[in-house]
Amino acid sequence: MQVSGRHGLLSGLDKAWVAAWLCLSLALAWGQVAEHGMKYNRLLITNAMVVEGSGIPASGPWDIVLEGNRIIDIQRAKELGAHRGNAAARIDAKGKYVLPGFINMHGHLQDSRARIKMPFQYQYNLWLACGITTIRDVGSDKAKAVIERKNSEADLYPAPRIYLYMWFPGGLTQKEIAESIRELKQLGADGVKFHQLDRATFQMAAREATLQGLKIAHHVGVKDANAWDDIAEKTTTIEHWYGVPDAALTQVQSFPPEFNHSDELHRFRYAGRLWREANPDKLRDVLQAMAEANVAWDPTFSIYEACRDLQRAVSQPWFDEYLHPALEKFFTPNPTYHGSFFWGWTTTDEVYWRENYQIWMKAVRDFAAMGGIVTTGEDAGFIYRMHGFGFLRELELHEEAGFRPLEVITHATHNSAVVLGQGEQLGRIKRGFLADLVIVNGNPLENLRILFPPVKTRFLNAAREVGGVEWTIKNGIPYHAPTLLAEVREMVVKARQDHASTGKTEAK
Ligand SMILES: [Zn+2]
Repeated sequence: MQVSGRHGLLSGLDKAWVAAWLCLSLALAWGQVAEHGMKYNRLLITNAMVVEGSGIPASGPWDIVLEGNRIIDIQRAKELGAHRGNAAARIDAKGKYVLPGFINMHGHLQDSRARIKMPFQYQYNLWLACGITTIRDVGSDKAKAVIERKNSEADLYPAPRIYLYMWFPGGLTQKEIAESIRELKQLGADGVKFHQLDRATFQMAAREATLQGLKIAHHVGVKDANAWDDIAEKTTTIEHWYGVPDAALTQVQSFPPEFNHSDELHRFRYAGRLWREANPDKLRDVLQAMAEANVAWDPTFSIYEACRDLQRAVSQPWFDEYLHPALEKFFTPNPTYHGSFFWGWTTTDEVYWRENYQIWMKAVRDFAAMGGIVTTGEDAGFIYRMHGFGFLRELELHEEAGFRPLEVITHATHNSAVVLGQGEQLGRIKRGFLADLVIVNGNPLENLRILFPPVKTRFLNAAREVGGVEWTIKNGIPYHAPTLLAEVREMVVKARQDHASTGKTEAK
């Protein structure tokens, strides 16, 4: 109900003056309301419910003081007299939850898909708008990635922190293997990404990487190497899941005689029938040994979801406004695009994949119960997965795997930071830690789905108007998520026009 000023003590005009005066005095006392992309000496977040990141329960309300790019103080709300007085800007987090910035452990910097240009900024905005403040790049154009990492460190434009686990080429001789690893080190790699190597190559490359102080992300192939080799060489993370059930087989997987591993449709179809062949006792031994050897697991549940539910994957509500034409083309079934194998995908394939997920998810849960470290990765840009949205879906699937929302947040923050070797300054809301934070409209522990950007759909218009990330703070700089998303929508409209009219966005 609206009450006219005439009936109150103050006229409308008086009220406006009082309101203006109050705002001015608050601004003087607490600093201005924060602005998107501005760097402040001191930024104050007030009245925040805090999920700290390491698995301890939410608590609050707290006031959090950021100075430069660090968290310098966390105090009970309203006990911060001195700090409140000299903050340059503030964000009122009343009714909101504040979490450590999310870490996406499986990203790829891509500035084109299907020979169509797609700006890095498109990915960065989506990642930040979904709360991701750090990505681990596991394979992209090395020279470009080094520049992007440097620019992100300098905050030249909105972008998450970038760790580079550079792609290691296959098919090398013994001498070339060591040279190649040293070359990656010289280029500035934080780690290496191994992809479907034979055992001998993997062993040599892993030992050289360890000598060079490089961490290892391993996408194991259907080769002679499996998780036992990762255990022996102390791989940092096993990506996806290949190599784990393989290490628990009692014989070669049962493939039909016409199976061709080079055919992606065959490969993904029979990948969906692999977990069922793992021997439960052997599997337990492998998981236990992985946990003891400190081999972490980055399962990337979300990237395979189309295999168990193609209809869901192709009809995601955010495609309408956010799908870049480069991704749209790449996602259209085509044997030359990795992961775009969905011609002739059958109900039977989905049924097998659902069972595959159940065994896989239980294995990840058992691994965690044995003390293994589980992280969260996305792998967007493939198989109908969009940046940011894919990561948030990953969080939901960790809950489906049996983890509590508080544990899921830990996978996405503290666990991933520890695996990156950054556990002492990233992934928690703690004094002295880097100021990477997500401010969420609502309580994600009640419903992880509220982390998704609000998107209008035919049936959920009103319901989806609430929630979403409000601010993502990276390196102390607040980015307003709705503003980042509006920019993405503009990019997409323009890219669609360009692509439709002239084809001038075709990459060379
Ligand atoms: Zn990948």
